[in-house]
Amino acid sequence: MSKILIIEDEEAIAELQKDYLEINEFEVEIENDGQRGLTKALSEDFDLIILDLMLPKVDGYEICKKVREEKNIPIIMVSAKKDDIDKIRGLGLGADDYMTKPFSPSELVARVKAHLARYERLIGTSQRQNNMVEIRGIKIDKTARRVYVNGEEKVFTTKEFDLLTFLAENPNRVFSKDELFREIWDMESIGDIATVTVHIKKIREKIEDDTSKPQYIETIWGVGYRFKL
Ligand code: CA
Repeated sequence: MSKILIIEDEEAIAELQKDYLEINEFEVEIENDGQRGLTKALSEDFDLIILDLMLPKVDGYEICKKVREEKNIPIIMVSAKKDDIDKIRGLGLGADDYMTKPFSPSELVARVKAHLARYERLIGTSQRQNNMVEIRGIKIDKTARRVYVNGEEKVFTTKEFDLLTFLAENPNRVFSKDELFREIWDMESIGDIATVTVHIKKIREKIEDDTSKPQYIETIWGVGYRFKL
C-alpha cells in the first residue's frame, strides 16, 4: 500500500483529502505545521507528499527544497492562489505537480495515482532490476536490504548484509580478509581482519545447510574467501 503524507494546516481540507485517498486504498498521514511535516517527510518513508504552500513555522517552498535534496518521491504542491503556483513553477523547486485550491478530491486522487505510477516506472527501470542479486538458492534484494535463502527470509545485520552482497556480486573472485575489511568497513571502524572472519561465520550460519561444507562462501586457505558461482 502506498503511503502518503499530507502537510496542510487547514484541518478540514486535510481530512477531506485523507478520506478520499483512504477510500482509494492509500495509507495517509497528516501534519498540520511545517516543521513537523518537514521532520516527518525526511525521517519516514513516504511514497508521495501533498504539500500546502502557506504553513506555520516552515513554508511549503522550504519543505519542498529540503525534501528534494534527499528524496525523489513525487511532491504535489497545493496553494490557494493561482499566482503562487506560477511563482513556485518559476522557482524550480522540483515539485512534480501543482494544484490550486479549491480542487475536487477526485482530481487529487487521479493525480496522485498518475504520479505514483510514473515514479514506479522510473525506479522500476533504473533500480529494481539491477538491485536483485540471485545466485542459486540465494536472493538478495538490495533495495529492501533483504535476503532470502531458498525462499525463506533471513535477518542480516548491516555489515553482514554488505559483506554477503559484495561477495555475491563478485563471484568466483578470491578476496583476502584485508581487502574485505577495507571494502566493507570504513577506515574509522574499530576492528581488524578478525572481524571479517566472525562475520563470514555468521553469514554461513544463515545461508549454508552445513557450515562445515560451505556451498556458497568458500575458504581459500591462506588467501581469503570466494563466493562460488
Ligand atoms: Ca495553508
